[in-house]
Amino acid sequence: MEQKNKLLFEHIVNAEKIVSKHVITTPIVYSKVLSEAIGEQVSLKLENQQITGSFKIRGAINAISNLTQAQKKAGVVALSTGNHGRGLAYAANLMKIRCIICMSELVPKNKIDGIQALGAEVKLIGTNQDEAQIEADRLSIQEGMTYISPFDNIDVIAGQGTLGLEIYRQSPELKFAFVPLSGGGLICGVAKALKSLNPKLKIIGVSMDRGAAMYESQKAGKPIFVKEEESLADALTGGIGLDNKHTFELTKELVDDFVLVSEKEIAEGIHHAYWHESQIVEGAGAVAIASLLNNKFSLKGPCLALLCGRNINIEKHFSLISTKH
Ligand SMILES: *Cc1c(COP(=O)(O)O)cnc(C)c1O
Repeated sequence: MEQKNKLLFEHIVNAEKIVSKHVITTPIVYSKVLSEAIGEQVSLKLENQQITGSFKIRGAINAISNLTQAQKKAGVVALSTGNHGRGLAYAANLMKIRCIICMSELVPKNKIDGIQALGAEVKLIGTNQDEAQIEADRLSIQEGMTYISPFDNIDVIAGQGTLGLEIYRQSPELKFAFVPLSGGGLICGVAKALKSLNPKLKIIGVSMDRGAAMYESQKAGKPIFVKEEESLADALTGGIGLDNKHTFELTKELVDDFVLVSEKEIAEGIHHAYWHESQIVEGAGAVAIASLLNNKFSLKGPCLALLCGRNINIEKHFSLISTKH
């Protein structure tokens, strides 16, 4: 594979030719309650309804389809107990290539079963992420499997960017987009697509206020180590990599502002999504709503909240929607 070094709009356009065959075009709906609350037109992109429950399938399909024949034959490997693991497992199964997801032995059985059910092999190694990472590296070096990063890979970013093309078609009048932010693959792809089509559009990255690695790194001017903390938005936790190749610079270039939300605000977002928008979202899927509900940003003009995932433990969800926050 020719390693791509720079994200181009064309990569996203090409990604859509492949990705759109395998994903659903998720709807954009108007939110009456949020619009009235902030006095501007608010719409929601319902990517929580995507196959596998999150947008990660987009990047996974594009990354796999850009592999050479030899790379496809050797298969792909990743490290993820969550949505990236699901997305990659689903995409690899679809394209009939081997996929190994490495995890620590402490990962709960339901997560392991979920990934196996999507057709991937699961390798349980050691008792922490680092040991699983060593095994993933070994598989890529010794067995020629391609390691697929959940965010720091141009094909993955371009795949997530297909969401931006959809958003522009569905809602060309948009002025602000609130996009969940962790490693930055999602926001960089979406921002590149949207800003190529409408350079005036503002992109706001939303993270949890505990251990927001990209936010802290941008403030520091370079990728830094940020202690990982537990959060309701579990899909947003984790670092950006001290050797970050793409998303740190792309975020600097493409993201206009950042907003942080508290655990209480995330819980409120999940509660709001259920009772007022009829949507089941996981913590990460609720942060954009949370930032609007709490008036974290002053804005003028139509804005969009991206609901990016719905994979939440359903008992936990039940308890969150049953309590007032
Ligand atoms: C992966 C993920 C994110 C964060 O995406 P990045 O590309 O790492 O910024 C947000 N929400 C959900 C549901 C995810 O699965």
